[in-house]
Amino acid sequence: MGIIVQKFGGTSVATPEARHALLNHVKKCKDEGNDVIVVVSAIGRNGAPYATDTLINLLEQINPTIIPQKKDLLMSCGEIISCTLISHFLDTNNIPSEALTGFQAGIITNDNFNNSEIIHIDTTTIKNNLAKGKVVVIAGFQGITASGQITTLGRGGSDTAAVAIGGYIKAERVDIFTDVPGIAKVDPRVVSIAPYISSISYDDIYKLAYHGAKVIHPRAVMTAKQFNIPVRVRSTFSNDLGTLISDKDVPYNDNIVGLALEKDFSYIKVEKEVLSQSDFLKNPDILLKKSENFLEAYYHKDHIDYPLDIEENSYFEKKDHIGQISIIFHENPEDETKKNLQDFLIHANLATQDIFWSDDRLAILLPLDHITQTVQSLYAHYH
Ligand code: ADP
Ligand code: ASP
Ligand code: MG
Repeated sequence: MGIIVQKFGGTSVATPEARHALLNHVKKCKDEGNDVIVVVSAIGRNGAPYATDTLINLLEQINPTIIPQKKDLLMSCGEIISCTLISHFLDTNNIPSEALTGFQAGIITNDNFNNSEIIHIDTTTIKNNLAKGKVVVIAGFQGITASGQITTLGRGGSDTAAVAIGGYIKAERVDIFTDVPGIAKVDPRVVSIAPYISSISYDDIYKLAYHGAKVIHPRAVMTAKQFNIPVRVRSTFSNDLGTLISDKDVPYNDNIVGLALEKDFSYIKVEKEVLSQSDFLKNPDILLKKSENFLEAYYHKDHIDYPLDIEENSYFEKKDHIGQISIIFHENPEDETKKNLQDFLIHANLATQDIFWSDDRLAILLPLDHITQTVQSLYAHYH
């Protein structure tokens, strides 16, 4: 018995069926004697009237260049609508609740608009409401600066809000309810037979999440590790317990944590001299290959500030629509493992354009339209 935080993603609040499932999870947790905090995302995915992407589109239709503060102000409305609706739904089903925006819940962030970090949570209001026996329903993904401006926590940031609230209020656990039954070895929508993982360490899931497994936000994992709070990723639509994330180091038979996919990479090839003139090319997040005369760089478009500091006429080649598959290892693989994998990539005739090794990761860059089939072949190779 203690405090449990239950976070529900966009698809877990979008339909009557999902809301009934949510109600059952809240009821069960209350009946077990816990105080319950519910954190919600905006309702539905792109196209749904109050989904985050739909709200952004409203602004972009007028002008795609948006003042970051105004983008945050509009985006925060999606979660506020969701939390009001869910709180009203709980009240109607005899579970008294209080609906709080992120700001009312005391979530203070820095002023890095659109991607703010939580610097403190004043949990007084949450605690006062729990003490009255209420379920507290909080709008995820948002906070407020010390000077009173509304912020959001980066896409997927409701996970971070839920874990941080759990950490500050010393909850027993945070449950991230979503539309899949837990963390799988690879996105189950790409490889439907991929097995689910019953438990995983903070460090291993961080690597997977950072490189694209969006089932949990990497910053939420960092926060969970800082507070050493256990997190479960589980399905809204069943009572299965899903995947437990904790500080326990879990052994692997094959040393492979999983495969992660990322879209939206670009590629440029420039003459070698450009390196000395460009700060962009020194960014540690880009994958850089040097040959005698050229430099080839792969970078994730969302992680880079535009325009690049490279003159248009120095491009030798430029390509978009590149994807990345990361094979994430638990421990740094032996040279022989690396060699076998490279041989496989050559002989299996996959659409690989380039590969990059780092200590515990192999990054495979390839044309986006081949990414699904290549992940499936890689998965089949390992299992
Ligand atoms: P929510 O709206 O609940 O936050 P997200 O769409 O952010 O849901 O995350 C859930 C999705 O993450 C799943 O639908 C799944 O397609 C995707 N995903 C990517 N990699 C994995 C993985 N390794 N295991 C489980 N799901 C994954
Ligand atoms: N609604 C926000 C997003 O779509 C935050 C979240 O869902 O976690 O990014
Ligand atoms: Mg999410």
